[in-house]
Amino acid sequence: MEQELKSSVAIIGGGPAGSFCAAQLQTLCDVTVFELKSPLYSILPTGGGRCNFAYAEYDFKELVKNYPRGEKFLYSVFSKFASADTVEFFGKIGVESYVQDDLRIFPKSNSSKAVRAKFLEYLRYTKFIKETVLRVDKTDKDFKVTTDMNCYHFDKVVISIGGHSCYDIVKMLGHSVIDPRPSLVGLRTEENFSSISGVSINNVLFTHKGISGPAVYKISSLKAREKFPYKIKFNFIGNIDLQSELNRNPHKSIKNLLSEFVPKSFAEFVLMGIPINPDEKSHRINGKTRDSILSAFQNFEITVIGAVPDSEVVTSGGVDLKEINPKTMESKIVPGVYFCGEVIDVDGFCGGFNLQNCWSTAYVAANAIAGNSL
Ligand SMILES: Cc1cc2nc3c(=O)[nH]c(=O)nc-3n(C[C@H](O)[C@H](O)[C@H](O)COP(=O)(O)OP(=O)(O)OC[C@H]3O[C@@H](n4cnc5c(N)ncnc54)[C@H](O)[C@@H]3O)c2cc1C
Repeated sequence: MEQELKSSVAIIGGGPAGSFCAAQLQTLCDVTVFELKSPLYSILPTGGGRCNFAYAEYDFKELVKNYPRGEKFLYSVFSKFASADTVEFFGKIGVESYVQDDLRIFPKSNSSKAVRAKFLEYLRYTKFIKETVLRVDKTDKDFKVTTDMNCYHFDKVVISIGGHSCYDIVKMLGHSVIDPRPSLVGLRTEENFSSISGVSINNVLFTHKGISGPAVYKISSLKAREKFPYKIKFNFIGNIDLQSELNRNPHKSIKNLLSEFVPKSFAEFVLMGIPINPDEKSHRINGKTRDSILSAFQNFEITVIGAVPDSEVVTSGGVDLKEINPKTMESKIVPGVYFCGEVIDVDGFCGGFNLQNCWSTAYVAANAIAGNSL
């Protein structure tokens, strides 16, 4: 009986995206993953070691709204594979999950190490080669993959080298790369917040270098394409009726009165910047000073001069989406080459959205390679 030869697929990069693509294809094709470090090592720090691998929004039209870059592109991708499919896949490989109050999905084990172990166990039909791919060339009949040690030939190539990498392979194939910029990252500021380092208000954490915390991560994502320096404003005190508070507490120091609304050290920091003596009694604060105080807290302006180096969760930028078919993740420039994961110009907020991008784009690429048989 004649046996049909399986097509050979090279997957470059064994992070979440490349590994997921391999998982889908390993029994249908001859799959080889080139990984310069060790497979799935990049999943270990995710979710603070707990691996927030998806988000419990099951309507893909809503899910796409969590991606400042790639919303439109992901529409078609998520229509094929989204949050529920991810949970099902992980269930299948023995990773049971739960939904946290904020809708983030975690493994019941709360351990990315355990997720990695299950995932690697599932990848038993995938061949891993620990070499660095230097270039990919299209030949007359296939693709030549050149590493730091050898040359190999494959029918198809999937590029999943992530966002923190060198894009030479991609550029040599003729693709354009949108300038990579850090996203979901702490921000360096012109102002010196060392004296209130560690203080946190409304999800903004002051640090020695500037600001961090969930609200700042979101801002860094929304402004990832903006040039430094840029200014941002916070209202740290809401719309309080300060005059009524002053009337109610005439003998309290202004510092103590404000510390009912913000941390005391922050109240002192702001008052000294106005400048107003933090120990001034409330009954001595006149209308003009009251307005200055309110304005200082409600329009707290910060000048952002950069991102904290090498600390971003995700890269904004990557392979230009105009050059990829979202229905197949295939290159429009070099047919037979596919992309998935963070290497493309897609990035989402915190919450499991960046891993979801990996799973979904990897699935779509694998499905196209498998001739829509998944
Ligand atoms: C601290 C931290 C916490 C995070 N937490 C979460 C979270 O909880 N939820 C979430 O959704 N996202 C999270 N992310 C983001 C998420 O980890 C990434 O979006 C995801 O890892 C991207 O996967 P990828 O496979 O596209 O790329 P990568 O994970 O970067 O993998 C690419 C792989 O390719 C290899 N490689 C690169 N170039 C070559 C080459 N030339 N030859 C061979 N191999 C190569 C690299 O060694 C790497 O293993 C977090 C990121 C960080 C840094």
